[in-house]
Amino acid sequence: MTVLPIKNEEGRACDTCRFWRKQAHRDEDDWGQCRRMPPILPDLVDDKLVIAGIWPSTKGGDWCGEWETFSLEDVDKPPS
Ligand code: SF4
Repeated sequence: MTVLPIKNEEGRACDTCRFWRKQAHRDEDDWGQCRRMPPILPDLVDDKLVIAGIWPSTKGGDWCGEWETFSLEDVDKPPS
């Protein structure tokens, strides 16, 4: 089976997406969290575990069809 590449003419990448938050993952610093959608609850049944939502982790060079360009308006401004 031949896998055809998907066009990415806009140069989409998670590290230029407004929904991405860089977060080092182990020793690699090109990982981040996609905040496009709410965190996902893991499919675990265990009363002893604290269940916390999980944000999808992606590498800076990944991308998806929900990509939106980053702008400085997306950055929180420090309180004055
Ligand atoms: S997975 Fe898609 S929406 Fe999420 S940060 Fe990457 S490009 Fe943006």
